[in-house]
Amino acid sequence: MRYAGLRCEGWQLTDEHQSGAGPNEALLRLEVLVCGVVQGVGFRPFVYRLALEEGLAGLIGNNTDGVTIEIEGPAERVEVFVARLRTETPPLARIDSVGVRELAATGEAGFRIVASEVFGRVSTGIPADAATCADCLRELLDPADRRYRYPFLNCTNCGPRFTITRRIPYDRPQTSMAEFPMCQACQQEYDDPLNRRFHAQPNACWECGPRVWLVGQDGAEIATEDAVAACIAGLVAGEIFAIKGIGGFHLSADATNEAAVMRLRERKRRYGKPLAVMVRDLDAARRVCSLSAEEEALLTTVARPIVLARKREGNGIADCVAPGIPWLGVFLPYAPLQHLLFADGRVKALVMTSANLSEEPIAIDNEEAQERLGGIADAFLMHDREILQRCDDSVCAVVDGAPQLIRRARGFVPLGVGLPFDAPPLLAVGGHLKNVFALARGRFAYQSQHLGDLESLTGLEFFKESLDHLMRTFEIEPETLVHDMHPGYLSTSWAREWAGERGIRLIAVQHHHAHVAGCMAEHGLEGPVIGLALDGTGYGTDGTVWGGEVLIARLDGFKRFAHLERIPLPGGDAAVKEPWRVAFGALLAAGVAAEQAAQLAGAEPAQARIVGRMIERGVNVPMTSSLGRLFDAVAAVVLGRRVVDYEAQAAIELEGCAMLEDDEVGREEYALELCEQPGGPNVLRTGRTWKTLLKDLEGGEDVSRIAARFHAGVAEGLINAAGNARIETGINCVVLSGGCMHNRRLARLLRVGLEEEGFEVYRHEKISPGDGGLSYGQAVVGAALLRNVH
Ligand SMILES: [Zn+2]
Ligand SMILES: [Zn+2]
Ligand SMILES: [Zn+2]
Repeated sequence: MRYAGLRCEGWQLTDEHQSGAGPNEALLRLEVLVCGVVQGVGFRPFVYRLALEEGLAGLIGNNTDGVTIEIEGPAERVEVFVARLRTETPPLARIDSVGVRELAATGEAGFRIVASEVFGRVSTGIPADAATCADCLRELLDPADRRYRYPFLNCTNCGPRFTITRRIPYDRPQTSMAEFPMCQACQQEYDDPLNRRFHAQPNACWECGPRVWLVGQDGAEIATEDAVAACIAGLVAGEIFAIKGIGGFHLSADATNEAAVMRLRERKRRYGKPLAVMVRDLDAARRVCSLSAEEEALLTTVARPIVLARKREGNGIADCVAPGIPWLGVFLPYAPLQHLLFADGRVKALVMTSANLSEEPIAIDNEEAQERLGGIADAFLMHDREILQRCDDSVCAVVDGAPQLIRRARGFVPLGVGLPFDAPPLLAVGGHLKNVFALARGRFAYQSQHLGDLESLTGLEFFKESLDHLMRTFEIEPETLVHDMHPGYLSTSWAREWAGERGIRLIAVQHHHAHVAGCMAEHGLEGPVIGLALDGTGYGTDGTVWGGEVLIARLDGFKRFAHLERIPLPGGDAAVKEPWRVAFGALLAAGVAAEQAAQLAGAEPAQARIVGRMIERGVNVPMTSSLGRLFDAVAAVVLGRRVVDYEAQAAIELEGCAMLEDDEVGREEYALELCEQPGGPNVLRTGRTWKTLLKDLEGGEDVSRIAARFHAGVAEGLINAAGNARIETGINCVVLSGGCMHNRRLARLLRVGLEEEGFEVYRHEKISPGDGGLSYGQAVVGAALLRNVH
């Protein structure tokens, strides 16, 4: 036998074979196993076409981990086939590994696609939702095409997947397309392996598929010839529409109409938080934002995420869309219905924001939408293709030259993220805010969509609904449950109960260790590494609130090498919403007199007295080493940002303010001072930083310059701490994680500064550095601890 036995990594063509085969040799038959995302993405028709083109015989079918191909013909043609298999992969497919072994030739003729059961149980989950492809878009706008202006056209290369699937296997009867029997023309396409719609499960047309209609505020259908045209007319006139999309409803308004956007904000009771804007195409995106090549690439990926990019001056977008910051969340249409809204050119830019109230789950059901959004939307653009999985739009940004996920949802879920070693079946429940859970088994962790805050019961319901679905999808029955150490999290109490009911093992993981371990695992690092976990807040092993941490970390444990000096957080959570409280506390801690501290923090005298007493007595005043909170405090003092409308607003505005300056404005006196503490973690002191900052402020220095210097001072202090950690431990590898790594300026300053010092620096690439990525890190730590047990 010239082919080695089956292995599942890379190519297995042996030297013996490559040198031994002649052009006219007898028939060769190979079994090729392809693992990865290869089901429901047009992989079988692709292989079918390839076999026909190369004049080869054989068969293909789905198996448990991917597809099995048997291919037979002249050796050289078979080799070409195998090479093309990898290089010409269809757009939505992802090959993780290919295994090859030789079989005895059978002399069969023709190539067949065989039924799923032939190679055993099919279980590779569901593909992610994908944006309308170029071929479908062309048909959508072609008056001669039978699907001209059909709002639900799709093919094997595009269309909804995850959000319309009830259970596996991913076949039409298991999707919300089950109730739309295909017409003859659609069925023919579906059955023809040479057609772009071969086995395209959501395939549909005007004849047989879903339809759209308009509903007024009173819940009655509005009679109209063309619901889309009527919706466009309403939007142009300044009305607010709830538009049903792929993963849920959007609330939409003309983004160039200040009054319309303001009305949307008032009705949604969402004042400061930036709103995402959808524009027709890449050219239109270039007109509203100045885009780098990386940002353009990100905008046009099949996931079509919202990309945070720098606003262009005079771009015509209403000021109240993203007030107070230099960025705009922009994205492109990804569903045919959205393309149609822009098709006649009357609509230039639309606010498209998840249809929910504050942090509640996005609405997906027609009746639910009418009930919950009745007071917000003037009308509803509905359709009857049921959304079975809620899924918000994903949010990305280019940070320090590379794409970074901020919110991982539509287009990414439920694709697995690789693990560096085999994990037993486990569930990691994530954090409290911006919750995402993860199921892990073998070499993959599957993160849920962004679920929002687990503060409310609706949030917890969404969590359970999604968990149920993903457990069914991947047939993972967890044997271990991993949760955050915080005793007060709803996810923690839920985890205890759930694990108790099932009698499964429970593992608590420290928040910042999970952040760092996640980044390590993404890069296959076992550690030890120097982990900078720069974050909002997380529960520490000493019961205090952490968030500015220098850890020496392995996957299965860590030591706290240094942390930011603790500042009081008067009122706990209240302080997160009111940065003036943090500023007041931080200034007092830095030795500023009470009266002056109150004035600098923007506290009213009565408030200052109450909070001052709270701090004195230490009642409801947790201490925190959080870098996020330090940013809040500085933003309160420098920008006068006393209270926030959304999480991290103060810190984001401080970053935006610093953006006007170049990197070279740093001043040494701003650097956090590293103080060694014998026997305990070292402390990065903030006293000198505050002193210099206040002096600059008093001297009338530009606030943008002060903001930039503060960023530089934080980076400087952390780089020094990493340097000390290296001297003590000999470790040269630094991992950057935590929500503060969304801060572009800080991320760049840290990476550049650390590299200048000769460090190897790693950052997140596939998961969010913030709490959206937490569950992946928890899964990694849990699996690493279990590895030690076995
Ligand atoms: Zn398509
Ligand atoms: Zn049809
Ligand atoms: Zn965190």
